[in-house]
Amino acid sequence: MKLSQLFSQNKLSLSFEVFPPKTDSAFDTVKFATEEIAKLRPSFMSVTYGAGGGTSQYTLDIAKNIKDSHGVPTLAHLTCVSSTKETVREKIAQMQAAGIENVMALRGDLTPALEQTDRSKWAYRHAIDLIRDIKESGADFCIGGACYPEVHPESANQKEDIYYLKEKVDAGCSFLTTQMFFDNNLLYNFLYKIREAGITVPVIPGIMPITNANQVERAIKLSGSFMPQRFKALVDKFGHSPEAMKQAGIVYATDQIIDLFANGITNVHVYSMNKPDVAAQIQSNLSHILG
Ligand code: FAD
Repeated sequence: MKLSQLFSQNKLSLSFEVFPPKTDSAFDTVKFATEEIAKLRPSFMSVTYGAGGGTSQYTLDIAKNIKDSHGVPTLAHLTCVSSTKETVREKIAQMQAAGIENVMALRGDLTPALEQTDRSKWAYRHAIDLIRDIKESGADFCIGGACYPEVHPESANQKEDIYYLKEKVDAGCSFLTTQMFFDNNLLYNFLYKIREAGITVPVIPGIMPITNANQVERAIKLSGSFMPQRFKALVDKFGHSPEAMKQAGIVYATDQIIDLFANGITNVHVYSMNKPDVAAQIQSNLSHILG
């Protein structure tokens, strides 16, 4: 199923994100975790892609398995910044052969090693280059793109970030998924600004349940997200107890999702990080709301 069709249904739903194994030996464990999440019957599941391409083959394997064995629509991520045109063309062909209908087209993060190379020689500099290539290939994918309610760290300001976002959407994105955020007002403000800029595609908010104190630092480093005082207090109070922190983190994420649904959002994407218990708890907290 194409996700554009799903988003037009206007029905409250949750989707979950998983990541592929980094080593061959982890494959079965990851496959099991993703299948447990698929059994929750989310609206779709996304499978991330290693920017360096190290785990790239597994993105497709996991996405195909979720779709074929569990009937859950999948969104396969694809990054381009460290790829050649040939590799990308090959990936597109493999996705088509696997029956993948939805692709999240991303640039990928710039690693220190990559930053030292000559940019003029890069085959891809931005996600928009990948989107144009997918379109030119003739592959009939529903394409998603990433967006940043708190501004991408490389952007000079929000106006510039939204300007390039509009170009990216116009190049062929049918929807956008947001970077994680911990204060919903940042999302509402962002939505207002992008709608004003003429971006009309569905925007799927990404919510990360923080279930252990170590994750907080990693999440902030990765996303640059603002941590509201309310969330910091919770980490200070419960961070030392894994069980308490997990419970508090799940409740905080649930609270964010309820507020999003109450304010007109229909699909929320949960960064469930291969944790079926966390995904199941959030879904159970929302059982009557999701209907
Ligand atoms: P772009 O859209 O290219 O934007 C990157 C920066 O360049 C922004 O500052 C933008 O304003 C600017 N820009 C865009 N176009 C132009 C232009 N034409 N000229 C000048 N400037 C421009 N990483 C992974 O490695 N694997 C994943 O699976 C993955 N999944 C993700 C899913 C989501 C929902 C999100 C939000 C991020 C994900 N990432 C993933 C991280 C992502 O790769 C990084 O955030 C990366 O730094 C930017 O990717 P992008 O596709 O948003 O890039």
